[in-house]
Amino acid sequence: MFHRLTSLWKIEYKIETKEPFITQAVSEEVKRLVEDKIDREIPKTSLDAVPLLIEGRAVITGNAAKGVFRHVISAQLTEAGHRVCVQDVKIERGEAPPEGRKRQCDPGEPCFVCKWFGTASRQGALHFSFLKSVKSVDEGILVEEPFPMVALRDDTRAVARRAFLLVAPVRAGVEFRGWIKGENLEHEIIGAIKEVQDMSREGFLQFGAFKTRGMGAVEMEILRVCEFQTVPFELKNEYEGRELEAFLRDAQEKYHRFLRSK
Ligand SMILES: [Zn+2]
Repeated sequence: MFHRLTSLWKIEYKIETKEPFITQAVSEEVKRLVEDKIDREIPKTSLDAVPLLIEGRAVITGNAAKGVFRHVISAQLTEAGHRVCVQDVKIERGEAPPEGRKRQCDPGEPCFVCKWFGTASRQGALHFSFLKSVKSVDEGILVEEPFPMVALRDDTRAVARRAFLLVAPVRAGVEFRGWIKGENLEHEIIGAIKEVQDMSREGFLQFGAFKTRGMGAVEMEILRVCEFQTVPFELKNEYEGRELEAFLRDAQEKYHRFLRSK
């Protein structure tokens, strides 16, 4: 949708796990690697769920990070009375979108969420990097002992067929770092990201699997925001520390004004 590139943004942030955290099931290879690292007699032949590991670091994919931000911001806007769409992939064929939501936007007329996060057919203005654990798996980022969980189907709450799962999550207190890149960002969307940071301080931001069973809460902190001009490409503003606080407070006020505009 942007025919002109007036500014480029980089928002560096970290998250710290507040609870054990696990990404969705991965390959057998990674499972065996985690089994070796944990190096314990386990009461089951193999682990069912382990974190996604790349080059020895636990990772959250950019897509997963983006999905969580999109979900939180969409839910808040809906509550504020803004008409936000639901992506077609999220609803069963032939079903209506949930109350307060509209069908997937026409690419020419994006809602606030599609404008920044994109649609199936059009890239958004925000790009999320992988979040990588600062420490490696050799530095003790996993729980010491895997633990069993009863698997419930999230839709029906019924006990799933393979009811007993042995999981080896990332432990609480592990730091991940990554960044969000943006094109032509407005203060409202930066304020929305700050809003997610505030929610995370109270435990309302969750990543990964088993969220309904006490896993996945993370605390997020924006560390630095850089704004670049594009002609010529050059750093225009860099916000850190006190300046970052003031910049984010102002952006959040603008987002709040937008929220209340309905
Ligand atoms: Zn939309």
